[in-house]
Amino acid sequence: MPPTQTPTPKRPRGQGQWALGHLEPLNPNERFKKDDDGLNVRKRIENIYSKRGFDSIDPQDLRGRFRWWGLYTQRKPGIPGGKTAVLEPHELDDEYFMLRVRIDGGALSIEQLRTIAEISTTYARDTADVTDRQNIQLHWIRVEDVPVIWEKLEAVGLSTTEACGDTPRVILGSPVAGIAADEVLDPTWAIDEIQRRYIGSPEFSNLPRKFKSAVSGLPDIVHEANDIAFVGVNHPEHGPGLDLWVGGGLSTNPKLAVRLGAWVPLEEAPEVWAGVTGIFRDYGYRRLRHRARLKFLVDDWGPEKFREVLESEYLGRRLIDGPPPPQHVEPYDHVGVHQQKDGRYYVGVAPVVGRVSGSMLSKLADAVAAHGSGRIRTTPHQKLVILDVAGDEVESLITELNAIGLAARPGTFRRYTMACTGLEYCKLAIVETKGLAADTVATLESRLADVADQIDVPITLHVNGCPNSCARIQVADIGLKGQIVKGEEGFQVHLGGGLGLDAGFGRKLRGHKVTAAELPGYVERVVRRFLDERADGERFAQ
Ligand code: SF4
Repeated sequence: MPPTQTPTPKRPRGQGQWALGHLEPLNPNERFKKDDDGLNVRKRIENIYSKRGFDSIDPQDLRGRFRWWGLYTQRKPGIPGGKTAVLEPHELDDEYFMLRVRIDGGALSIEQLRTIAEISTTYARDTADVTDRQNIQLHWIRVEDVPVIWEKLEAVGLSTTEACGDTPRVILGSPVAGIAADEVLDPTWAIDEIQRRYIGSPEFSNLPRKFKSAVSGLPDIVHEANDIAFVGVNHPEHGPGLDLWVGGGLSTNPKLAVRLGAWVPLEEAPEVWAGVTGIFRDYGYRRLRHRARLKFLVDDWGPEKFREVLESEYLGRRLIDGPPPPQHVEPYDHVGVHQQKDGRYYVGVAPVVGRVSGSMLSKLADAVAAHGSGRIRTTPHQKLVILDVAGDEVESLITELNAIGLAARPGTFRRYTMACTGLEYCKLAIVETKGLAADTVATLESRLADVADQIDVPITLHVNGCPNSCARIQVADIGLKGQIVKGEEGFQVHLGGGLGLDAGFGRKLRGHKVTAAELPGYVERVVRRFLDERADGERFAQ
């Protein structure tokens, strides 16, 4: 008999966590980030690439560091979905870019809106999309034009800094911060301060992957889907402050954020944000890209250990225990006419699936100015909100906005449908999304006109072009994940997801797939069945 050998225990493989001494890059993304900070590409864009043109761009900058300044190459037109995996990157890359303008807190002045509109019409073929993270994305940007676009944006206090890449992305904020009658506090100072201190700083410009933040005095910013979120809450002893959540993220392996049970005073929010972001930078997994989001670390550690490390290693003090924020039954989408706490009104309008244009934004700026307002906000639901409207201006503003395609009293499907970028521009896409979603909205509003009055609960319809979740499909009533179905463009259906009181992921039923052509008929059948069979007061997500 051969002698029995005791197997040598395998050493656990390092996850590339800097805090544990794994400083050597374990994949190409980590390599290029170590070779040169993504922020440094700006000088090369200004001094070299914009002067010598697209072909002069170093491939590592093109497909890597450009993101640190909000730039992605667009998908070359005409390449069908499903072909992506078999093509070389250069076969997919168009010579034009998508440019993401970060709008922290979604807050825009008329001057800023006019600037984005002018950039769109001059340099972006009149394209513009309001995203579900309150950014505005432009397309067809040439590298030659990027420096002048930055100049124009920065002259009015906007930027594309860290709008993409392994960085702290745009900070979501309530579109009605400072004016909502029911907000616990106005956290705008904290958003501004985080941006001022940390965005564009080398301290946080090399994170394991993207890092999404949200700060609001209300539970109206999809906080459960962010890496870090602060949500307004009244502490019984200490008063108004912020409840701290970490580890949310959708995409593949979706997870909802968890509470750390900590109440944070407004003035400490930037420091606590830096502590959590520091944990992600130092302890986040860097070996595998698909495990590099904060949600995996939070899942492995649990909220107690996460809070302990935050307090002991990053803050040097204990946080105050606090209660959870109030839950809301219906999704806050800010559409329609609502009174502000100062007696004036805010008017939320719905472009179809976030698609606008430079011309439309320019007309919006004119209409807003003509009706005495100076502030516009983007929302995390691909909508726009006009603040500070006097009562006697509301109806004429609504009429004017309607005429330019922005509905303040939209039907259910226009109001609650979102779509990601999809095949039109996105290199990861399998199917087209925006055009299909817009057609589906129009078809449903016509086919379901006979029961429109009965649809008295929100029915959210979110359309994604691939398994990523840029349109948050897992938390929609009807979530659609793009894939090839029966040899053509179609979707895996997820049913019954939600946030707030109904927080949870939609059910993915095996074989529950529709082609793009079948989509309107499918949604019509689901909605009619819900209306026929629901109990009194039942919501769609229940
Ligand atoms: Fe692109 Fe997929 Fe995101 Fe849609 S969900 S924008 S197709 S990566």
